Amino acid sequence: MDAIIKQHPALKAANAEGQRPSRDQAEEAVRTLLSYIGEDPAREGLKDTPKRVVNAYAELYAGYKQEPGVVLERVFEDVGGYQDIVLVQDIPFYSHCEHHMVPFYGKVHAAYYPTDGVVGLSKIARVVEVFARRLQTQENLTAQIAEAIDQVLKPRGVAVLVEAEHMCMAMRGIKKSGVLTTTTRFTGLFADDPAEQVRFITLVRGGQR
Ligand SMILES: [Zn+2]
Repeated sequence: MDAIIKQHPALKAANAEGQRPSRDQAEEAVRTLLSYIGEDPAREGLKDTPKRVVNAYAELYAGYKQEPGVVLERVFEDVGGYQDIVLVQDIPFYSHCEHHMVPFYGKVHAAYYPTDGVVGLSKIARVVEVFARRLQTQENLTAQIAEAIDQVLKPRGVAVLVEAEHMCMAMRGIKKSGVLTTTTRFTGLFADDPAEQVRFITLVRGGQR
């Protein structure tokens, strides 16, 4: 699990003790942005907004304080030697793009071929949460989920498919709504054998309503 964290030096720096701005500084920064967009931070409706924004950030970006390895640890369940594909489908997520800090959201589908057992299905959903509640690109989110499952469970292969709508595309720039972006990441068996990728995608698409 250490290895997973070490892949993100920026994250480590951001969390280092003493380097983090205080809560007051964070609220002041929100006031600055309010003034910048032409608002009066002192007006009645906005008086508590900096506090609320900082509170919301604690929840929206809670993933920086969580380790995916810890989430997945000690979770093996004996399932009588089951070794076939395990698919967890339609895991909803809400994240923020690292380019604009604007939401993107959608669904994650993840599958793996177990070796020593399977994890509780909710654990995969929690791994998705850990990575989604950070500033992200959809590509990195997809890769990080796959790699966390791969490193901790050591399965014979992992497949992750993420489909998402990006508000920075819908609300600004080209202003296209309803556009879904799909990203995939395959390891092990799935990376080596295109037939396994087809099986995974067929299962995902077959299960969609
Ligand atoms: Zn963006």
